[in-house]
Amino acid sequence: MRFKIINTVIILLLFAGLVLAIFGFTSFWYVLSFIVFYLLFLLTVSTNVRFNFFVNSISENPGIKEKQIAISFDDGPVENTLEILKVLEKYNAKAGFFCIGKNIKKNPEIFRKILTKGHLVGNHTYSHTRKMGALSVSTIVKEIEDCNKIAEETAGIKMKLFRPPFGIVSPKTKKALQKIDMLSIGWSIRSFDAVLSSEEIILNRIKKRLKPGAVILLHDNNAKTVNILEQLLLFLKNNQYEVVRPDKLLEINAYS
Ligand SMILES: [Zn+2]
Repeated sequence: MRFKIINTVIILLLFAGLVLAIFGFTSFWYVLSFIVFYLLFLLTVSTNVRFNFFVNSISENPGIKEKQIAISFDDGPVENTLEILKVLEKYNAKAGFFCIGKNIKKNPEIFRKILTKGHLVGNHTYSHTRKMGALSVSTIVKEIEDCNKIAEETAGIKMKLFRPPFGIVSPKTKKALQKIDMLSIGWSIRSFDAVLSSEEIILNRIKKRLKPGAVILLHDNNAKTVNILEQLLLFLKNNQYEVVRPDKLLEINAYS
């Protein structure tokens, strides 16, 4: 609703600007700059779940005052997830894994192992398509439901938490989530472990942004994340930070 109102106001302003430009009261360059600025704004809010513009996502818990944070992993379960689980066990840390449906289908044992080790699982769509921003409401619903279905068949759980692939959301994502009663979960610290190559830079990004109630985003399908996680857990331990499972940190229910 909020987006519809803003979009209508912007279109009316653009129309008025065009009329003024046609009659020589303003320059077409101003109107063009305005269009570019608005498109950049839309690109920013649709690729950053934290802004809560199109969809209300829970990305951190600002109410937490103790040194507690949560770690979440996207894109598994894959073989590398087993290495991540070993490191988490070594430091007795519980995390959240937002799984891709087709990976659950390929690696059901690993999916079950995540759960038996006491971690949380959530929905990261069935196919993890890059076209998320362009999908219809019914296709988004199908992507989420197909992932929920395979998770239930594999481990008998009904997932309630959803993390949008690439952090891309649109008004259609909001409608889809309302339709199937799923909760969007974001992050407050994006590590860029799937993009950046330097482990040091990735770790420093996380350390700099660390604060009570934060949710860190990592990727368990990334080989170098194993070492990054070990370094991170060591840093957290040395700085008296406690790693709390995301549902506990965010005070929400992960399953229905
Ligand atoms: Zn992803």
